[in-house]
Amino acid sequence: MKAYKDMTREELFAEKEKLEAMYQDYKGQNLALNMSRGKPSASQLDLSKGMMDVLKSDSNLTCEDGTDCRNYGVLDGIPEAKRLLAGMIGAKPEQVIVYGNSSLNVMYDSVARCMYEGVLGGKPWALQGKVKFLCPVPGYDRHFGITEHFGVEMINVPMTPDGPDMDMVEKLVSEDPLVKGIWCVPKYTNPQGYVYSDETVRRFANLKPAAEDFRIFWDNAYCIHHLYNGEPAQILNILDECEKAGNPDMVYEFVSTSKVVFPGSGMAALAASTANVASIKKQMAVQTIGHDKVNQLRHVRFFGDNEGMEAHMKKHADLIRPKFEALISIMEEDLGGLDIAEWTNPKGGYFIGFDSMPGCAKEIVAKMKEAGVILTGAGATFPYHIDPQDRNIRLAPTFPTIDELKLASRVFTVCVRLVSAEKLLA
Ligand code: PLP
Repeated sequence: MKAYKDMTREELFAEKEKLEAMYQDYKGQNLALNMSRGKPSASQLDLSKGMMDVLKSDSNLTCEDGTDCRNYGVLDGIPEAKRLLAGMIGAKPEQVIVYGNSSLNVMYDSVARCMYEGVLGGKPWALQGKVKFLCPVPGYDRHFGITEHFGVEMINVPMTPDGPDMDMVEKLVSEDPLVKGIWCVPKYTNPQGYVYSDETVRRFANLKPAAEDFRIFWDNAYCIHHLYNGEPAQILNILDECEKAGNPDMVYEFVSTSKVVFPGSGMAALAASTANVASIKKQMAVQTIGHDKVNQLRHVRFFGDNEGMEAHMKKHADLIRPKFEALISIMEEDLGGLDIAEWTNPKGGYFIGFDSMPGCAKEIVAKMKEAGVILTGAGATFPYHIDPQDRNIRLAPTFPTIDELKLASRVFTVCVRLVSAEKLLA
């Protein structure tokens, strides 16, 4: 297809008229579709139905160290659950604290603790002035929501296919003692599906922060969420790399089983150095007597071990890979060669990152909504919801059925072409 910028005004006008008719046709169909939610579909949830059968009223609810999981106690998680979560990220079980049902909650808690109690006995961030976080963009809206909530100033750092712009990260971290943290999703980034290169991970581990209470918030949410469309991605173990670099305490790593089993009913964990774990447990002991050990036991009995979990993830991949492939092939078919958009082709995670021509994303999302297809709000992938170029859109193909997704994708490509043609004609 001819690139829009190479079309004459007349050609482009004719294209716009054709697209307008297609758009009106979709609008007349009273669609109610949704490509905004990074949620598993109902058939993915069905894969974990057996979770409901592994514990019964006559089950032995004693864990391997003899603890009766029905009662109070065990602050940092039962040993077999620690092992399972550690295995997901290649950590050692003693580096892991098992929390409750959500890693986002652990991240919120971690920022709150740093703000109000400080890091390893240091002065609370909240008493140090206007503290700052680096935010690789586009990124995960809920990360930015946490730091915004605590009044932390957020600084955009551009993302590349190998991870954040590390020259910028190193400069800002080493020069400004008010830079206290950075949000990272190292594997299958939300929303692009990028994977941090070994060099990026090593540069993170070797940072020389001006603030001794600087922490990397390493959200390994998609560590085992491969699409199995080629070799699964591998990343270096940040805890090991930080230790090798003489910075063992610089990272908090987060993980959960949300999108492995039932989101909202999974288990979450934080992994960190011995000093961090000891200090966090002291604070946690005030907060809780212990998290849900019955749920921890249920997970372990369901999966057995990390191999069992990997086999389960392959079943997820079989269900969602065709959806990623369908959306990408429709974009290639309808938008390829027009030179009006770019998108990623991930090997894992839950999203595809899409960039329109500058100044078009809001209008595309609005047009989609008018036609009955909900997308994640334009700007959501940036701190303060401000996409400086108004071009990034996060696409989430997992939740709709394949037929719904194909239809929504066709409406999307029509909206992208229509808005782009209108922009070029304006
Ligand atoms: N981290 C990332 C990068 C996510 O994309 C999501 C959910 O979409 C979460 C964390 C939420 O995890 P949890 O359900 O464990 O709170």
